[in-house]
Amino acid sequence: MYTMTPYRKFLLGLGLAGSLQLGACSTQTTTTDETMTAEQQGMAQAPSDVHSFAKPAEAVAHHLDLDIAVNFDQKVISGKASYQIENKAKGNEIIFDTRGLEIEQVYLGKEQTPTTFKLGDEKEFLGRPLIIAIQPETDYVTIQYRTTATADALQWLNPQQTAGKKHPFLFTQSQAILARTWIPIQDSPGIRITYSAKVQVPKELMAVMSAENPQQKNNTGSYTFEMRQAIPSYLMALSVGDMVFKPIGQQTGIYAEPATIDAAVYEFAEMDKMLVAAEKLYGKYRWDRYDLLVLPPSFPFGGMENPRLTFVTPTVLAKDRSLTSLIAHELAHSWSGNLVTNGTWDDFWLNEGFTVYFERRIMEEIYGKDYADMLNVLGYQDLQHTLEDLGPNSDDTRLKLDLEGRDPDEGLTDIAYEKGNFFLQNIERVVGRERFDQFLNKYFQTFAFQSTNTDLFLDFLRKELIQGDEKIAEQINIEGWVYTPGLPEDHAKPTSKRFAQVEESFKAWQSGKPANQLQTKDWSSHEWLHFIRMLPEQMSQQQLAELDKAFGFTNSGNSEVLAAWFIHTIRNNYTAADQALDNFLTNVGRRKFLVPIYKALAATPAGKKKAQEIYVRAKPNYHAVSTNTLDAMLK
Ligand SMILES: [Zn+2]
Repeated sequence: MYTMTPYRKFLLGLGLAGSLQLGACSTQTTTTDETMTAEQQGMAQAPSDVHSFAKPAEAVAHHLDLDIAVNFDQKVISGKASYQIENKAKGNEIIFDTRGLEIEQVYLGKEQTPTTFKLGDEKEFLGRPLIIAIQPETDYVTIQYRTTATADALQWLNPQQTAGKKHPFLFTQSQAILARTWIPIQDSPGIRITYSAKVQVPKELMAVMSAENPQQKNNTGSYTFEMRQAIPSYLMALSVGDMVFKPIGQQTGIYAEPATIDAAVYEFAEMDKMLVAAEKLYGKYRWDRYDLLVLPPSFPFGGMENPRLTFVTPTVLAKDRSLTSLIAHELAHSWSGNLVTNGTWDDFWLNEGFTVYFERRIMEEIYGKDYADMLNVLGYQDLQHTLEDLGPNSDDTRLKLDLEGRDPDEGLTDIAYEKGNFFLQNIERVVGRERFDQFLNKYFQTFAFQSTNTDLFLDFLRKELIQGDEKIAEQINIEGWVYTPGLPEDHAKPTSKRFAQVEESFKAWQSGKPANQLQTKDWSSHEWLHFIRMLPEQMSQQQLAELDKAFGFTNSGNSEVLAAWFIHTIRNNYTAADQALDNFLTNVGRRKFLVPIYKALAATPAGKKKAQEIYVRAKPNYHAVSTNTLDAMLK
């Protein structure tokens, strides 16, 4: 996922729910030889996951046959989820996760013999366990179900909320634990399934999934899908709408609404180059095709790394290819996350820290070190904000999290992304790039299509890189980075030559040089972002107007620039930007932008009133992932 969301402290304390799972199983392993199988490495049993009711050590699903219909009038998905299961304990039940699903009937075997089932008590965030009665020899169960209005993974858009304005649109967002709101499923990142699907949609629309996809609309509205590589549940994804496909390279292409496709093809023309760069770094791409689906603007994240088909926000269509590090990020997830997966949400940094590290490496490969340096500095600034917001001693600033009793979405801060990245950059610095690359290659190969966790990774690190060398161990400083809040005192701060020039221009402006005489030619989005972030909290109307006139911030077509600029216009009550702000908030649903803007508005009583007024109008356009955060802030 690409989000870099600012922290959401106001959500802390909403959590309850105690331990719901069997006790922790051992995650210690001393043998990680690459010739060993996952089972020999002790990974046969998924690590215990406090965010799932499933008991995979007893009965686990291996393959899903999904047969569903998408009804836009009722806003309901209904049908059957059939699983090939392994009843490991030869017991008499298997447990799936559900939240807000209506379970109509459950059958055993291919012959579909009805069986009994019960839904356990509702737990906040987690939903209800679906406990199905099975026989010791049962290897197939079918769950007939329908979604309800509480399906937080689903966002149903009316035609007005799309680019084309003619047809409705649907997309899912399953991470972290929302797959259970649209499919009854063992919803833990430690459990992998392959799947096939048959999806019936209105004839004028097309369906795509995180699977082998059609490239053309048919005239029946019936689509079939195959996902042969085993994936964790949070990568289950579906989108339905009026969309077309255009290829970029042999292996890459773009799905988007007809109104958006050409802009998207232009913006992401370099995605093939990125794939080549990524393969050069970390080995063969293991998922066959890599396509993008450009969603309507209400998509709550920058991107979601659904395998074979990344879902991406249209807010990166800046017309100058300046925000495409997001594509490098999602592509990088094809290794870190989709191929080697965090086993529980407490290990989220293994997905995101690696991916940010990898994203910057791809960008360096394509655009050079000076470019990647800018991204690192911006990331470091985000990290500093998050550390400030969470507090220097907060346990949530450790890489290894403890999210028991809370929504795992709370772990989704810049800590996992940026602190994780800087930890890996630190290791690279200590052992050298060449050795670190070899190490990462081996790591991805060894754990391919498996779940990992912090302990397993650190064991691998000790065995393969540290190898008992105390000096290296001290410099890598596992304890300081992984288990201690904040940042180790001696960490290296990233610097950027290109930003140094921005800082010079900024100082010149502060010393009285008119804005329109500053040297800003050839600045990318990143330079502008750095410039805007340096602006003082208190500014006069005259200063804001001068900058706006010289650089056209309020009318910028670049969402990053706009979102950063609005923070200043709100703080300083620069009303000339109000209409643009209103347009932005009612059109864009990306949480990374919404949260700081609404937070800035809510800082004063008058601003909060305005925020609430806009929110009422804008909310129908936001996904639940965003509204859950904003509801808590604006109530
Ligand atoms: Zn990500």
